[in-house]
Amino acid sequence: MQKTFIKTENLSYRYDDELNSFPALKNVSVEIYEGEFVAILGHNGSGKSTLAKLLNMILIPTDGKIYIDGKDITDENMTDADLMDLRKKVGMVFQNPDNQLVATRVEDDVAFGPENLGIKSEDIRVRVDEALKYVGMYEYAKHEPHRLSGGQKQRVAIAGIIAMMPKCIIFDESTAMLDPVGRRDVMDAIIKLNREKNITVVMITHYMEEAALADRIVVLDDGKKLMEGTPAEVFAREAELVECGLSVPQCTELVHMLARDGYKLDGDCVTLDECADLLEELLSKGKKDV
Ligand code: ADP
Ligand code: MG
Repeated sequence: MQKTFIKTENLSYRYDDELNSFPALKNVSVEIYEGEFVAILGHNGSGKSTLAKLLNMILIPTDGKIYIDGKDITDENMTDADLMDLRKKVGMVFQNPDNQLVATRVEDDVAFGPENLGIKSEDIRVRVDEALKYVGMYEYAKHEPHRLSGGQKQRVAIAGIIAMMPKCIIFDESTAMLDPVGRRDVMDAIIKLNREKNITVVMITHYMEEAALADRIVVLDDGKKLMEGTPAEVFAREAELVECGLSVPQCTELVHMLARDGYKLDGDCVTLDECADLLEELLSKGKKDV
């Protein structure tokens, strides 16, 4: 039996000010299991960041429930200690690497989180070194963060979260501002954390190719949950995705086009490897009689 790590029930959030009231999230119920890698997909304004902020209590829901690791974090009796415990368990990495680094040396930046948790300084030293090695940034420990590339900065930000030893990390479009090399390095780090450290990963993205690497995808549209399923299940529904401003990975699109043109393909694909297998099979079979 899989253990639930995050569960939301009819979660809703409204941004309210004197003039306006905007419903950004509407009755969203999702369940994410321990050790799972879940991608949240949705076009701009669909409510992805709002959901992420609710899960980390940066925002408090207008309605609905959130359970993290079995605890009701929407309970009125949540104490400061409970909030601290939540922040320890669920780390967040944001989009802009420049907004997340505060210190003048990489290692001080990584130490910032565990320091706030009150960890002993000799333990912090060990955690910082390990975290930097983990993301391949150890040799930059004494460097100035602002001189690093975007991808390197994001990996330092991730190291800062790892050093707090969370059970779950939420990445809110953490690759969106990076060049292709930076994106790949950060994606590799995310996948490694999930597979090797069994850290539950919630990755918000608008890159279909990145979402295709997840165990499961949740699609948000206009603040509502539009669909959820494995990448294969979600990307099979290309027309609906296009309708809400999304697409499918390029290899999936290619295979769908070939199918529409009468080529008989055995199944679907969401990753390049799967695509290569399908095409190889197709080439050995030739075109279907139509
Ligand atoms: P996403 O991350 O999917 O792009 P957000 O969760 O940031 O979407 O925003 C969802 C909706 O809520 C958007 O329409 C956005 O304009 C609105 N919104 C976000 N932040 C605020 C805010 N502070 N005040 C008012 N409306 C907001
Ligand atoms: Mg966002």
